[in-house]
Formats: sequence, structure tokens, C-alpha cells
Amino acid sequence: MTRILVISDIHANLTALEAVLSAAGAVDATWCLGDLVGYGPDPNECVKCIRAIPNLTCLLGNHDAAALGQLDLDAFNHDAKASACWMQEVLSVESKEFLLSLPQRTRALESTLVHGSPRNPVWEYLLDIYTVEQNFACFEDQLCFAGHTHLPVAYLAAKDEREISWKMLREGDNLRLKHRAILNPGSVGQPRDHDPRASYAILDPEAKSWTNFRVTYDIASVQTRILQAGLPYAHAARLSGGW
Ligand code: ZN
Repeated sequence: MTRILVISDIHANLTALEAVLSAAGAVDATWCLGDLVGYGPDPNECVKCIRAIPNLTCLLGNHDAAALGQLDLDAFNHDAKASACWMQEVLSVESKEFLLSLPQRTRALESTLVHGSPRNPVWEYLLDIYTVEQNFACFEDQLCFAGHTHLPVAYLAAKDEREISWKMLREGDNLRLKHRAILNPGSVGQPRDHDPRASYAILDPEAKSWTNFRVTYDIASVQTRILQAGLPYAHAARLSGGW
């Protein structure tokens, strides 16, 4: 295993997903950290595409749980709730079965994989150092992979773990992982770091190397499908600005 594709937060954006899979090229395994659906216009197409990936490890995200009716939709804001209701209507039986089969937390190659955080795998956001510090106590492996915030960020512990630093990753940034870390590949289908390009990362588990990549895709075609489906305008508009 020398090349693992790590993706998260596809959000029913098939055009972005296909661009990422094509740009990443041949890999030994793919880890998908959840939120296959929600916001975007292509939920069934994205589930079908993801489940066909060989050597796949895939997790359940909060939007996947919402689309399955497992969450109280009042936990979402108005627009997210509208898209979750739409997802519940349009998801096929096959798509629901696949999402239902996904774990909330798992391990692969001696790493911990979650959607949100190791403490609260589906819901918690890792956005501040205090929360991140607490979460370092919630997994035992050297590396934990999480999505959910849609930000390509690395939280890096010092050798003695007394200090944790963080770094937002830009295209081509590469880290050599010497100590414990929580790593987020950013979002494929709805980036929120003001770079609208789809985000993904490649892990080389032997070299302990983590590299972030960005890829352009046809945003306008996705926006057209969002509006055609009657989904909220904001979900289309935000794709252009990456927020
Ligand atoms: Zn998400």
C-alpha cells in the first residue's frame, strides 16, 4: 500500500467526484469519510459511483444519517433541512441500503477513521484547538482521519503531545507525519476554504506522507442541476466561492 486516496463530503456532487477520481489516478485503496449526500443534485449517482470503487472503506456522515431519517432535521439550518427532505424523497432503495451499511467509526491500516471527530463520530466539528486537544485522547492510533468541516487541515501533535499545532493545507502541500495527527482531506463537493476547487488527499502510509490536491470541475453544470431540482439557491451559489 503506497497510495491511498482520502476523500470526504462529496455532497451529491457527481461532477466534482468524477473529477477527483480521474485526477487521483490509480490508487491502492480509497477511504471516504462520509457525507456522500446532502446539498447537491446527484445523490443516487454519487452513491453508485462510490460503492463501485475497489478497496473502499466508507463511513456514515451526518447528512447521510439525515437522508436516512435517522436524525431530527431541526438540527439543520433551513436550507440544509430542505435538501435533507429532498434526499429522503429521491434516494433509491439501493442507495439507502448502502448508506445504512456504513459504520460511524472504523479502523484501516492502524488508523482511525471518522466523519466528524473520534469523540462524536457523526456530529462533532473539529474547528478549535481546545476541542481538538480533547479529541486526541479519543483514539489510540498514530493517525486519525476526519472530514465534516470541509476544510483541508492538519492537526499535529508534538512528540510529547503537550502541544498541538494546526496547518491549513493548500494545493500540493505535503506533510511528513512523525507524530500523532488528525487529518482532514477537505471536501470534494462543497469546499469551504474559499477555494472552489474539489479537495482530496493522498496518503502514503509507508512513507507517512500526506499531500493535499485540488482539481477544477464544471461548477456551472452542477449549479444548473441544483436549481433544476428545486434545491435552495444558496447551495448553488456557494460552490462558485468555495464557502
Ligand atoms: Zn459535510
